[in-house]
Amino acid sequence: MKVLVAVKRVVDPYFRVRVKQDGSGVDLDNVKMAMNPFDEIALEQAIRMKEAGIATEIVAVSIGVPKTEDTLRQALAMGADRAILVGHEGRIESLGVAKVLKAIAKLEAVDLVLLGKQAIDDDANQAGQMLAALMACGQATFASAIDVDGTTLRVTREVDGGLRIVELQLPAVVTVDLRLNTPRFAALPAIMKARSKPISRMTPAELGVDLTPRLELLRTEETPPRQGGVIVASVAELVSKLRNDAKVIP
Ligand code: AMP
Repeated sequence: MKVLVAVKRVVDPYFRVRVKQDGSGVDLDNVKMAMNPFDEIALEQAIRMKEAGIATEIVAVSIGVPKTEDTLRQALAMGADRAILVGHEGRIESLGVAKVLKAIAKLEAVDLVLLGKQAIDDDANQAGQMLAALMACGQATFASAIDVDGTTLRVTREVDGGLRIVELQLPAVVTVDLRLNTPRFAALPAIMKARSKPISRMTPAELGVDLTPRLELLRTEETPPRQGGVIVASVAELVSKLRNDAKVIP
């Protein structure tokens, strides 16, 4: 089974981002970047499938600026066999991502595409679903367990009030959730070895995809600073404050 894993370069989740003065977006100068945490989980899943003799080859793909190579090197160090960097400057919407992934999935004749359930920068949670629609194949989102039986996938999804298990046939698209696994750290020898693993480069145009955004970004704003809290003396005072000051209860 050939597996394609989509990995996005995002602002490190532990880094405090700042909105640009002109409200045109988030300031990305001198910001620490990292692989989208959900994509690390997707990649870890692919690696475990290869270790179990289920996956035969893992191809990591990312769309972004030249620096995105760092993210792909990390993917190679973790265990991907090779990588593809689709060069693009500027904002990319999930539909554009899905179109690129569809083209690569076809080119590479992959059986399974694994993605994170969402990229933590835009929080769109759309690329996987759009990709499955474009590929006209089965999809399972928010996977917390994936079992493979030949060409059948059994995917456990965490839903409100319990677990839902869906079965789908390959080729398929699966997006992964937090509890699927704990991604490994790449050890130094693996990081060294990853330097000689191949990264091929493509452009969206070569794949026949136009990444021009369809949505207009109006404004990005800082969330208002949190107001300091007060300690109330009694339940009655709390209720009074909720009713009269915060006006959140009648
Ligand atoms: P989103 O729908 O934008 O929240 O993204 C969902 C998933 O799509 C991510 O977890 C990644 O697996 C994949 N993805 C989104 N953007 C990119 C990108 N620029 N390059 C590679 N994969 C991406």
